[in-house]
Amino acid sequence: MAIKKIVSYGDETLRKKSKEVSKISKKIQTLVHDLLDTMYAKNGVGLAAPQIGENLRVFVIDVSSNNEPLCPLVFINPKIIKKSGAVNSYEGCLSFPEAYTNVRRYKNVMVKALDIHGKPFVREATDGSLLARAIQHEFDHLDGILFIDHCRNIEEANKVLGEKGLAPVDEAYLLEEEVLEKEILENPVQPVEDEEE
Ligand code: ZN
Repeated sequence: MAIKKIVSYGDETLRKKSKEVSKISKKIQTLVHDLLDTMYAKNGVGLAAPQIGENLRVFVIDVSSNNEPLCPLVFINPKIIKKSGAVNSYEGCLSFPEAYTNVRRYKNVMVKALDIHGKPFVREATDGSLLARAIQHEFDHLDGILFIDHCRNIEEANKVLGEKGLAPVDEAYLLEEEVLEKEILENPVQPVEDEEE
């Protein structure tokens, strides 16, 4: 168990599609502990395996606040089995130091995954909660998708990146999210939170 170096934006590892875990081996359990140690050390809300250089379908999340006991959640081979609604989510990412922007997310998600012992579970997160948004942010990392790809247009994305001295994103990565955008415009009250994942 160890605190690992976080892979920064620009590294190819973050753009690769990660592989399913075939067996919950000692190596995978160590990876989970490394993810948790690193996430807590960096005060993050979530961390995905590619962010510490492992292209495997594993991420961890802890949405407990500072004065609450730790509540680590481990997701191995996650599948999003239901999603609905839409929210604006003000997000950052541990791989993009100090860059934050508003991105579009589903309001409610249901995810099926394996825990650290290989036991399947289903977790629902609703109301655009931090957990709902973190699950989507971390899930994206497993498919090589970054939060900046959810920006509404390339100018917005590159402004956020440029202000922090980060390289512009290739326009081809930007996601078409017309349905989410329409729903956000029709339901304008949105939560705003400021967390790094
Ligand atoms: Zn991230």
